[in-house]
Amino acid sequence: MLRVRKVTYLYQKFTSKINFLTMNKPKTIKNIIFDFGGVILDIDPQLTMNELKKIGFDDVAYFTSKDFVENVLNKFERGILTPEAFRQKIRELTGKDTSDRAIDEAWNALLLDIPRERIAVIEQVRKHYKIFLLSNSNEIHYELYVRDLQLRFGYREFDQLFDKAYFSFDLHLSKPNPEIFEFVLNQHKLLAGETLFIDDTLVHIDAARKLGLKTYHLQEPERIRDIFVNGKLKKDLISG
Ligand SMILES: [Mg+2]
Repeated sequence: MLRVRKVTYLYQKFTSKINFLTMNKPKTIKNIIFDFGGVILDIDPQLTMNELKKIGFDDVAYFTSKDFVENVLNKFERGILTPEAFRQKIRELTGKDTSDRAIDEAWNALLLDIPRERIAVIEQVRKHYKIFLLSNSNEIHYELYVRDLQLRFGYREFDQLFDKAYFSFDLHLSKPNPEIFEFVLNQHKLLAGETLFIDDTLVHIDAARKLGLKTYHLQEPERIRDIFVNGKLKKDLISG
């Protein structure tokens, strides 16, 4: 009886040690969720500010104000405002009857291009991980960069380059709302601990981390080519 108890004790001690070791072992990254603007696509918001000034916005600081961000930008990015309604807002705010085309051109000025080498990096990464795109964006911008993807790279849509691409205006959800991350995880049955989220905006990174995702805050002048080697994440880049 004593012997049985001793064996049981040793066994429990052994398994708890194993549990302890596996619990602390960093999980392998199997999935990667990429932000778009500033991570895949190069952008320069100042260029849009400059162009908006030309179509009648004297105070371009207004574009970073709480009023504009909450009442116009966030609603446009969540697909609550249509492109037509957004353009109308711009006309109301400037008090000028600017054409759709001139508004779109000013709005799109911030979009630079997707460098060819970045597409090559993503194609390599896809050989090793399930990859997703998760972008806060709006329909006017989308029309332009999807055309760029088609004409320059021969992909019909972002769903061909990634396992799946998600845009806030389509989901009616935007980062850093936790629901948008939960949606993507649930949709593909991904485990948060096996999923890396790469974004250049710190509040998005913090929101994802709170849900248990692994995160990487990409900061200028770093580019995604700097964090992968032949499509695999550099060792020791992601802790825990
Ligand atoms: Mg970004």
